[in-house]
Amino acid sequence: MSRYTGPVCKLCRRENQKLFLKGQKCYTDKCPMERRAYPPGQHGPAQQRRRKQSDYANQLREKQKVKRIYGVQERQFRTLFTRAAHVPGITGENLLVALESRLDNVVFRLGLASSRKQARQLVRHRHVEVNHRIVDVPSFDVSPGDEISVKGRSKDLAQIQVSLEARTRPALLEWVALDEKARVGRMVRKPKREDIPLAVQEQLIVELYSK
Ligand code: SF4
Repeated sequence: MSRYTGPVCKLCRRENQKLFLKGQKCYTDKCPMERRAYPPGQHGPAQQRRRKQSDYANQLREKQKVKRIYGVQERQFRTLFTRAAHVPGITGENLLVALESRLDNVVFRLGLASSRKQARQLVRHRHVEVNHRIVDVPSFDVSPGDEISVKGRSKDLAQIQVSLEARTRPALLEWVALDEKARVGRMVRKPKREDIPLAVQEQLIVELYSK
């Protein structure tokens, strides 16, 4: 599955919101959103002054924002949406729960990586096990009760240590548990919408895809 390899700070500037795509660097004053909080490109500053956006533009931006936060490409995102629409409950919430249950996101939520991008790399490089078996698929759907651990010698990886010790590390969410020393985590239960600390309006995505 392809992934975006361009400059990620541009994505935050495009969405006019800090998406925290670069781990620790996002918490420093080097973050471009601190100095240039307007869309990238020659006409960026002018776009900022533009009048109200259309409903379609708002829906599109919300969808792009969520895709960028989780590092998911359009086709994969669309597939997740289709599945979410067929599960009982609110489609927007189902979509966010599915995104949160991805293995790369769970590794990030456990604090073993300082960004989803770094978590994805840990998974792709076969450092992560699910229920004692190596899983190198970042989109793997983690289920409640699954044990997520760092493989043997990889437990001492500097990036994991740095991430766990980071001052800016967010508090562990209620739906995951971690034994920091053993580098073993667990999904306690599926998250609910209120457990997902994301300032997004998922309903707009549902409206966009329902046209
Ligand atoms: Fe976004 Fe982080 Fe870059 Fe700031 S440093 S613009 S929050 S990716």
